[in-house]
Amino acid sequence: MSIEVKNLYKYYGEQAAVKDASFTVNSGEIVGFLGPNGAGKSTTMKIITGFIPASEGEVKVCGIPVDVDSLETRKKIGYLPEHNPLYLDMYVKEYLEFVGNIYKIKNVRQRVEEMIKAVGLEVEQGKKIGMLSKGYRQRVGLAAAIIHDPEVLILDEPTSGLDPNQLVEIRDLIKSIGKKKTVMLSTHIMQEVEAICDRVVIINKGEIVADNKASELQKRTTVQTVYVEFEDQISKSQLQKVPHVRKVEQVRGGWLLETIEEIDLRRVISKYASDNNWLTLTLKIEEKSLEEVFKELTTNKK
Ligand code: ADP
Repeated sequence: MSIEVKNLYKYYGEQAAVKDASFTVNSGEIVGFLGPNGAGKSTTMKIITGFIPASEGEVKVCGIPVDVDSLETRKKIGYLPEHNPLYLDMYVKEYLEFVGNIYKIKNVRQRVEEMIKAVGLEVEQGKKIGMLSKGYRQRVGLAAAIIHDPEVLILDEPTSGLDPNQLVEIRDLIKSIGKKKTVMLSTHIMQEVEAICDRVVIINKGEIVADNKASELQKRTTVQTVYVEFEDQISKSQLQKVPHVRKVEQVRGGWLLETIEEIDLRRVISKYASDNNWLTLTLKIEEKSLEEVFKELTTNKK
């Protein structure tokens, strides 16, 4: 296990920014840490990287507790903080050498050359960081984060503020770096998780509300929606009388009926329709998009 977080709490004064959070990230996984703004993502990541202490709980990186030997765990972690703080007056190579020297890397010039290639900075390598586009600045941040060859990468909103082309490029880069490392990246963009991550941990108001494979997340929904078409003209108020249905919505020539009860709503509708002599043309369960599941998990709670 590369990252283990157990019963983690973080208080800022009275406010609990993280409440009893537990999750693990296995070696070689790319895990998306998803949640709305203010959910506690950055706070959790700063604790894992040893930048701030936990109030309570246990955090281990590569088996080492971060509060016992944070210098040792920091060597194992590459961290790209939110907003990627860089020295804009420094040249790309100069900055990467500076970071390499902090880690006391031998043959630092050669390592910087390797990093420039790894993140695709060849064309821009002679420029000052302040002259680079946001996408290229992210590449510099990523190069700096992996220069000491860490086992674990923690990336805090690595694609925020990028244009659609830069976004795709940085996602591809993270994916390719992630082949050899364990990656935990935070985001509030669901498509990002679908594009890059093996697994997703969702945090809402400081609490973990889901921890699933990206492909399994759809099943986490408590709301069941059924799409139905009738040959007859049926009104909304008639459909509102179908047992167990809590919401009715008209869409593209048919209806969406919703329940939160653990029943097969198709059976209920089918029976109700035949009891009322309505002819049903279509009846099927609507697959939820990950976006909808995320919304449900982060808005229906407390
Ligand atoms: P996220 O990264 O998911 O947007 P954060 O971890 O940054 O969330 O913040 C979680 C909560 O903790 C927010 O309500 C935020 O205002 C609060 N918070 C974060 N950092 C501090 C701080 N240094 N002092 C006080 N409150 C903070």
